Amino acid sequence: MQTVVFPGSFDPITIGHEDLVRRAIPLFDRIVVAIGVNTKKQYLFSLEQRLAWLREVFADEPTVQVTHYEGLTANFCRSIGARFLLRGLRHGTDFDYEKTISQLNATLVEELDTVFLISRPCYSHISSSVVRELIRAGADVSAFVPSAVQL
Ligand code: ADP
Repeated sequence: MQTVVFPGSFDPITIGHEDLVRRAIPLFDRIVVAIGVNTKKQYLFSLEQRLAWLREVFADEPTVQVTHYEGLTANFCRSIGARFLLRGLRHGTDFDYEKTISQLNATLVEELDTVFLISRPCYSHISSSVVRELIRAGADVSAFVPSAVQL
């Protein structure tokens, strides 16, 4: 059974994240969408809220599981027997960052490979950080987040 881990903050989940997961469903037996908890980082939404949104968005997908972890992503993958990581690429900036992280992870856990999906053009401008800025400014973000995310 091939398991892929899709790690992120999902603060909050966007339609870009959702699209990436749905496109990966035919490629893997199991997709573990995992919120990486960094105790030093400030999040806009609580872990419980972010988990609840993820669970609602993928409630109709039996091969998608939602969880969270602390510590290194590579260690989490090893602990659940996952050989693959899923990440999205929106532009060159993502590539430069992701290349380094991917090589680092493969050094930490030798058999760990990162699978990249290029963002659909219609989603490449969407990021959680932009959505957070809009929320802070009181804007309507319903065009950027799944309908489960009610604000
Ligand atoms: P982080 O927790 O690393 O800050 P995010 O939660 O913003 O990252 O994103 C997690 C993953 O989802 C990353 O691989 C990122 O490239 C990908 N991603 C985020 N937004 C989009 C999008 N609009 N289209 C495709 N991939 C995306």
